[in-house]
Amino acid sequence: MSESIVYFATARATRWAYEHSLVARLERLLERLDLGSRIEKGEYVAIKTHFGSHGAFRVVRPVFLRKIVDVVKAVGGKPFVCDTVRIEGWDYLEVANRNGINPLSVGCPVILADGLFGCDSIEVESGPVLGSVRVASAIYDAPAMIVVSHCKGHIGAGYGGAIKNLAMGGVAGRHRSGDWRQARGHLHAASPESKVVRDPEICTLCLQCLEVCPTEAISQEGDGLVVDEEKCWRCGRCERVCPEGAIRLQKRGEDEFQAGLAEAAKAVLSTFEPGKVVYLNFALEVQPECDCMPMADVPLVQDQGIFGGDDVVAVEQATLDRINSAVPLPGSAAADRGVKHGDRILPATLGVDGQPHVDAAAAIGLGSQRYRLVEV
Ligand code: SF4
Ligand code: SF4
Repeated sequence: MSESIVYFATARATRWAYEHSLVARLERLLERLDLGSRIEKGEYVAIKTHFGSHGAFRVVRPVFLRKIVDVVKAVGGKPFVCDTVRIEGWDYLEVANRNGINPLSVGCPVILADGLFGCDSIEVESGPVLGSVRVASAIYDAPAMIVVSHCKGHIGAGYGGAIKNLAMGGVAGRHRSGDWRQARGHLHAASPESKVVRDPEICTLCLQCLEVCPTEAISQEGDGLVVDEEKCWRCGRCERVCPEGAIRLQKRGEDEFQAGLAEAAKAVLSTFEPGKVVYLNFALEVQPECDCMPMADVPLVQDQGIFGGDDVVAVEQATLDRINSAVPLPGSAAADRGVKHGDRILPATLGVDGQPHVDAAAAIGLGSQRYRLVEV
């Protein structure tokens, strides 16, 4: 296995000078990635990030997005900041705005890569787990991409970084036919017949599932709840928030889900020529949950910094190693669970390990798990 270089910008700032700031360090990291050699003059560049949610504010801050946009423009590219539909598109753009991500702050268009309705996508072959996925059209058509990921835990994947950003975030939220099998739900659901089932015997009607559902597929009827199968995207959020384990999406097993993430990421990357995609992993405000949930908990570990490179597996492995070996913060979910320094923090806190999808990405040839960290 060859060794890949991963550049690292520490979050520590010990001198009162701009060049010691993380913004300046990001600028130096981008210089090392040599975007000028990867982006042609006039070429569109997708800057793929996550816009967050109405209550999840720990996204990659606009000041960093602006720096990336400025560097892309300086080498002659035409950047656009994008994500794919997670809730209704109009509302999701408003989420971006409230989290400070808009054309004025980042200096370029801010768009939904799968269109305002989340239906603009192109089918791309993926592999044995998923068969194919539908890649968001603006990502499919973009000749170059910078994958900007806020790294954190994830209740399903164990860890959410660049691979999950590509896999879940690079495919369309829905399909114009209304068939969830041709959209993101395909990554979660066990079979084409999968649906959400609720056990009325243990449901306490707390309505948390109804509140978290992005499509308003769950409604209260009399003493019970009804799930509209047509509206349901099979995202599994209702299951995640249910305190009683009373509602469940018939979803893929853990190994298959993680292998599917790697496969979907590979399908998204297959729409780019070699060398046209670079990765920036922000290990800042590493909270336990995904940015699509309706809240953001306090960080599990201290801010670490930014990892960057052109090998997605190496960048992910370096980030995971750093987070998992960091000191758990007092007052965090890690501390609640008695996690100690030396435990692998994300799996020890969440009970799910994200390492398998990084292993799966390496196994299907997306990159090397051997890396050399170069501090900028
Ligand atoms: S979250 Fe669980 S307990 Fe609460 S209403 Fe939904 S199914 Fe019932
Ligand atoms: S899986 Fe649950 S939360 Fe997601 S769309 Fe379906 S009902 Fe709503």
